[in-house]
Amino acid sequence: MTAKKQQVEKEYTVEEKLAALYQLQAMVSEIDRIKTLRGELPLEVQDLEDEIAGLETRLEKYRTDIQELEASVAMQKNKITESTALIDRYKAQLDSVRNNREFDNLSKEVEYQGLEIQFSEKKISEYSELISRKQEEIAAQAEALEGRKADQLQKTGELEEIIAETKQEEEKLREKAKKLENAIEPRLLTAFKRLRKGAHNGLAVVYIQRAACGGCFNKIPPQRQMDIKLRKKIIVCEYCGRIIIDPELAGVEA
Ligand SMILES: [Zn+2]
Repeated sequence: MTAKKQQVEKEYTVEEKLAALYQLQAMVSEIDRIKTLRGELPLEVQDLEDEIAGLETRLEKYRTDIQELEASVAMQKNKITESTALIDRYKAQLDSVRNNREFDNLSKEVEYQGLEIQFSEKKISEYSELISRKQEEIAAQAEALEGRKADQLQKTGELEEIIAETKQEEEKLREKAKKLENAIEPRLLTAFKRLRKGAHNGLAVVYIQRAACGGCFNKIPPQRQMDIKLRKKIIVCEYCGRIIIDPELAGVEA
């Protein structure tokens, strides 16, 4: 049984190994790209949510301001009521004054309370003006908030869809990559994974680009380029250690 299996197992040529490695590279690079994309998407929604929270805080502040202003208006109205009551009392007392001094004092008090009422009325009109300005501001901000909330709802829906789609795509790619990995000899696969881990762009297999390594862009000597094109040996970049193949094998026109 084992002997039979070994017979069936194919012996891959170097060219086939290189092609399989490059295919694997393309798949895992695509997975990397999808993961990066998915990672950025929630940030967009987060930005919108921050903006909405900012608008809500501002609205809340305007509402508190209005409450405070309304309290101030009520206080001034109370003062007016008190002053009016005092004026009525002083005027009643004026009817029964006994001397000029009393008359003068009461008149002054009446005059003073009259001024107090004028001052309160002025304050009330100032506060009312501020209240109506804040109310206008609230109306404008509330409209903006509604718009942002609608955006957020739409965006969140879109993003959830994209996330679900990319997750599906990623899973399919992972399955394909796994199958391919089974066809690559363990020693080579280990080297591939180690190279990928060490490379900031996740590239372990690259092709020649303008006579240079497609990973680190250092020039490749002509003789080495020839050897790469022959596909008889696995050749690594002498600078970065990445496996280099010829563009044609990568499906790229030279
Ligand atoms: Zn290199």
